[in-house]
Amino acid sequence: MIGCDWIGRWAFYAPDKMALKEYESGRTLTYRKLNALANHAAHFLKKDYGITRGDRLAVLAENCLEYFILFSAAQKAGFILVPLNYRLAPAELDFMLQDAMPLLTISEKKFTEKVSRSVQTILLLEELQEMLWSKAEIKAEPFPQAPIKADDPLFILYTSGTTGTPKGALYTHKMLFWNAVNTEMRLDITSADRSVSCTPLFHTGGWNVIPTPFLHRGAYFCLMKTFEPAVVNQLLQEEKATMFMGVPTMLRLMADAENFERTDFSSLRFFVIGGEPMPLPLIDRWHNKGVPVRQGYGLTECGPSITSLHQDDAIRKRGSIGTLNFYIEKRIIDEAGNDVPPGNVGELLLKGPVITPGYWQNPEATKKAFTNGWFHTGDLVKQDAEGYLYIVDRKKNMYISGGENVYPAEVEKVLYQHPAVSEAAIIGVPDKKWGEVGMAFVVLKEKANVTDQELIAFCQERLARFKIPKYFKFIKEIPKSDTGKIDRKALKRLTQFKEDYP
Ligand code: AMP
Repeated sequence: MIGCDWIGRWAFYAPDKMALKEYESGRTLTYRKLNALANHAAHFLKKDYGITRGDRLAVLAENCLEYFILFSAAQKAGFILVPLNYRLAPAELDFMLQDAMPLLTISEKKFTEKVSRSVQTILLLEELQEMLWSKAEIKAEPFPQAPIKADDPLFILYTSGTTGTPKGALYTHKMLFWNAVNTEMRLDITSADRSVSCTPLFHTGGWNVIPTPFLHRGAYFCLMKTFEPAVVNQLLQEEKATMFMGVPTMLRLMADAENFERTDFSSLRFFVIGGEPMPLPLIDRWHNKGVPVRQGYGLTECGPSITSLHQDDAIRKRGSIGTLNFYIEKRIIDEAGNDVPPGNVGELLLKGPVITPGYWQNPEATKKAFTNGWFHTGDLVKQDAEGYLYIVDRKKNMYISGGENVYPAEVEKVLYQHPAVSEAAIIGVPDKKWGEVGMAFVVLKEKANVTDQELIAFCQERLARFKIPKYFKFIKEIPKSDTGKIDRKALKRLTQFKEDYP
């Protein structure tokens, strides 16, 4: 069979089953309606914009139902979705749009200013909504399934790289399928499962931990535009959610919310968490509330789900990211490229059906990411005697702030553009609220003068807010290693922060 129409299948087998609800608007979609709107969207995009298999369609919007209508339309018609992070600055979005070259960009009205100079064809999300929902009750002609192959891309998801330049990770139909099947089996998802989803849809974690496995299985979730800790607690209770996925920062804020103690979480089988290191006291806090916390690990280039910890092991193996999902092979290697024995730390390399084939039109970056077909994660891990994996550190130069990756090279590149800056280096330092925040070390040019406020304003024009360093330190010289590389460990020693959060 060519192509795979998940929603069409459920529209046939369980048409009246609720697929999703949008919390803010109260709009709902059964599988039948979702399928009908996806057929309308696929016809309309082809007729009005000439969008067919292989064309790119960018979306700049907060979480909304239309994202899933477009997802289903892409599975039918074969176009490629390019979800964009609305928190990025216009210059950052411009780079991605010039790279992906979408035929059409669908943007929420409030974000159009960010992209109006970069793209010619914009369709307002609000117009798309009106057009689609006015037809919601009319029977849609099924869109003829495009001859999609397993290795055709379905998404391009941009990640900033350690070189400071964003790269578009390709997500094939096969990756999505295997990620959904793996997740369903590891999390024992059935069509009776219910969830609340508030992770952003410009990131793989927003799509592929709960929503796409749930849609593949015919389950239901309530979608939120943004994360509001107390509202999420309340919704988990009201919606009788059986599972929830978040990053540790979210779980910390939910546990600190005023309604935490009085919320009834008894419908939850577990939480799935990942994306950043999980402090053990936070696991215990939720466990004491009766919710097992199952840590998982993954990354954009890998579907994303690579490992998971079973709920029976949630306490016995707390701190572990669990074991590998199905059909995923690993190596753990030292600096020389040799496999390390169990118990020793090394870089995690991966192979399997959920690994990206590479980056959109970027053979150089693709070549760098793989060695003989093994994908380099840049994460340092170790394995215990029972085969459970633990994240120990990162080899790649990156830190995570509130669940968003920040690549120091990208921020340093911007600081270097400032006329007063001679050298700059950024590190992540612990932060109670965000997990980590940036600290910039800056060497000024001779006789130059600039304040941290001026540097912040300069960054604000060019970078998303979460990437802007919280602290600035002006120093005489950036410490370097013998090979001339920035010595980030020495920089860490220059800070007064202790790694003891929360
Ligand atoms: P992203 O590509 O945005 O999904 O980020 C992936 C990176 O997040 C990984 O390479 C890890 O460095 C980090 N990460 C993901 N899951 C975990 C986890 N459970 N614990 C620690 N770091 C994680």
